[in-house]
Amino acid sequence: MRVLITGGAGFIGSHLSDAYLERGDEVFIIDDLSTGSIENIHHLKSHPRFHYTIDSVHNQPVVAELVDQCDVVFHLAAAVGVKLIVESPVRTIETNVRGTEVVLAQANKKKKKVLVASTSEVYGLSDQVPFREDGNLVMGATTKGRWSYACSKAIDEFLALAYWREKKLPTVVVRLFNTVGPRQTGQYGMVIPTFVKQALADRPITIYGNGKQTRCFGFVGDVVGALIKLMDHEEAVGGVFNIGSNQEVTILELAERVRELTNSKSEIVFVPYDEAYEEGFEDMPRRVPDITKVSTLIGFRPTVKLDEILKIVVDYHSRQSSQAAATSGSTSGG
Ligand code: UDP
Repeated sequence: MRVLITGGAGFIGSHLSDAYLERGDEVFIIDDLSTGSIENIHHLKSHPRFHYTIDSVHNQPVVAELVDQCDVVFHLAAAVGVKLIVESPVRTIETNVRGTEVVLAQANKKKKKVLVASTSEVYGLSDQVPFREDGNLVMGATTKGRWSYACSKAIDEFLALAYWREKKLPTVVVRLFNTVGPRQTGQYGMVIPTFVKQALADRPITIYGNGKQTRCFGFVGDVVGALIKLMDHEEAVGGVFNIGSNQEVTILELAERVRELTNSKSEIVFVPYDEAYEEGFEDMPRRVPDITKVSTLIGFRPTVKLDEILKIVVDYHSRQSSQAAATSGSTSGG
């Protein structure tokens, strides 16, 4: 199979590329390296079945050409990360809405199946925990930058579903809950890489708010497995699926666990949301997926527990920092 992955140099996209190449398939990616990184695909650049294009999904002729060459499309290219979204709402809206318009329009010309990655952010302030795919989406005010992400992704979902209903383009929508693993950067605010890096450097671990908010962290390997199975399953077409773990943890427990696992001397500090993001910032107190739908269809279940995930991420960042130290040592020495 020939697979196109937009955002293929991103955290999830690069793991998805690895998985398809391991299966023996051919992978094409397009990424503008805005939040993705060439480092994520460095190990694939000379692979004979891997092809990469550094460009934006807004570039219609380039997307058209890539869609032509492939059998199926994963649309993962998006502005992600709460910090980035709050700081750059224009970029968020334009990337997420226009990019999806281009990809779906081009895929529709050749009726190539598209899986569109959405996000658990769309549940917004809903308190119907655990969140079901048919539950209400509860958005905050438009004056709060965070909600531009949820709204832009909700529009992506509407568009993907509309292409299926109106034009019979096979589309699948997935709502990814907090996904973690190696290659995820803390640069755009994601909590686990941020805490792990802080703990490894014995710097203060920064909890935003009071730390009582909860999240469920799914391992990227489990998530990628689900994406592939959904793409392969005919009955997934026209559907919306939550993907993630349902092991709930408070952010304070998370900080303590990271500190233990790294034997860190870091102190845990509490930073008000207004300082961390923007004035009036609204966080979700709990975020837990109901994964019945995806479990029933493809037998999905999260296999990697939080402690195991944290060990993998700690190990990854320890190796990254020792490599960086070795490189700077050899540079300054040589
Ligand atoms: N968070 C935190 N400290 C950080 C980064 C994030 O306490 O340095 C909190 C954040 O406010 C949220 C949770 O951790 O409540 C998860 O944040 P992340 O950005 O990883 O994902 P979100 O679920 O908000 O999309």
